[in-house]
Amino acid sequence: MTAAAQKVLVIGGGFSGMSAAIMMARAGIEVDLVEIDEGWRSYGAGISLHGATLRVFQELGILEEFKAEGAATSGLIVRMPHNDQVIVEIPTPSMPGIDLPGNAAIMRPALAAILARATRAAGVNVRLGVTFETLTQDEDGVELTFTDGTSGRYDAVIGADGLFSKTRALLLPEAPEPAYVGQAVWRAELPTPEGLETLSMWLGKGVKVGINPVSPGRSYMFITEDCPEDIWVEDADLLPRMKALLDPFPSPMLSAVKEGLSEDSKLIYRPLKGMLLPQPWHVGRVLLIGDAVHATTPHLGAGACIGMEDGLVIAEELQRHATVAEAFAAHEARRWERCAMVVNNSGRLSEIEITGGDQGEHNEIMGRSMRALAEPI
Ligand SMILES: Cc1cc2nc3c(=O)[nH]c(=O)nc-3n(C[C@H](O)[C@H](O)[C@H](O)COP(=O)(O)OP(=O)(O)OC[C@H]3O[C@@H](n4cnc5c(N)ncnc54)[C@H](O)[C@@H]3O)c2cc1C
Repeated sequence: MTAAAQKVLVIGGGFSGMSAAIMMARAGIEVDLVEIDEGWRSYGAGISLHGATLRVFQELGILEEFKAEGAATSGLIVRMPHNDQVIVEIPTPSMPGIDLPGNAAIMRPALAAILARATRAAGVNVRLGVTFETLTQDEDGVELTFTDGTSGRYDAVIGADGLFSKTRALLLPEAPEPAYVGQAVWRAELPTPEGLETLSMWLGKGVKVGINPVSPGRSYMFITEDCPEDIWVEDADLLPRMKALLDPFPSPMLSAVKEGLSEDSKLIYRPLKGMLLPQPWHVGRVLLIGDAVHATTPHLGAGACIGMEDGLVIAEELQRHATVAEAFAAHEARRWERCAMVVNNSGRLSEIEITGGDQGEHNEIMGRSMRALAEPI
């Protein structure tokens, strides 16, 4: 039982919402979670993580499950596009108290399933295929009606419904729309190329290729492409276009990857959009977390990390304070600098890549951001 809230609703069962729900339920709060997708699926290939994300997994109690299903490797290697020779090896130090190296990745559906099990095990009341229809609040609570015909009253609501948040649109209709940054990402799942032991990248003109191991013997590939227009790509075009993007990289590893790509390689295309909502991130007793307020491009591989950290922090602050207003204010004060750092630095990395800017500045921002992420939250 906490002082600030006894009954909380979480809207959205993504990485951020599940993290908040788990930690609040463990703190003795009665938590309902509504997720619009009745299959509670997570789409996509792999997701890149690092030491700070592994620290969140430890807090959530899912580090052992991650070890069983994901991969942790040491260092980031930049390789020559024509022969895979190592250009530079950037260390990825481990986090204190975590017995894993500091680079990591896992398939998104595997991480979503681990978190979903932890959410149910924490006692969260999960309702799938459901969202809210109406939301009104007074001084003492929030009243909602839901698409399954039910209604409920809560001390607080956490909106964790992602980049195109319906909760944000309702509460903050003037909020800026997510903006396309001029790059898109293509992803695929594949067998780990022979000789690749950790995250490796190949830099070309307007195209960056990365391969990160996600489990024993398996990796995911991402190709970041500069693309001035926010275009739609038909499923039938995914394979030929991805293969064509690999043409300027005739190295042995990438030639073998290109040869092996097929319709079964879980091919996905996503235009990159970012958004940093100025604070406050709450209206009355409703707080927005995760991509709903700080959606970052993936250049630092830290979007999921900061979204899950939001969940840890709001659960802590609800226990520390006597009122929801105080808890929300304390949460926002702790989260602004860190989340803004990730969104802004990722945006700058994207700009440097698009303009062919200074690689030294790129490396410096990467290093500085990783050190900042390793700081306590
Ligand atoms: C191409 C790409 C690559 C990325 N790569 C990385 C990476 O390598 N590493 C990394 O850390 N981050 C990466 N990210 C960012 C990361 O995916 C996000 O930051 C993270 O998924 C945010 O989690 P979230 O829970 O806040 O939002 P989401 O993952 O969007 O989850 C929102 C949830 O809410 C549900 N929902 C939506 N609307 C409603 C509603 N009205 N009612 C109820 N439920 C609703 C959705 O179904 C979903 O389950 C990448 C992003 C992109 C676009």
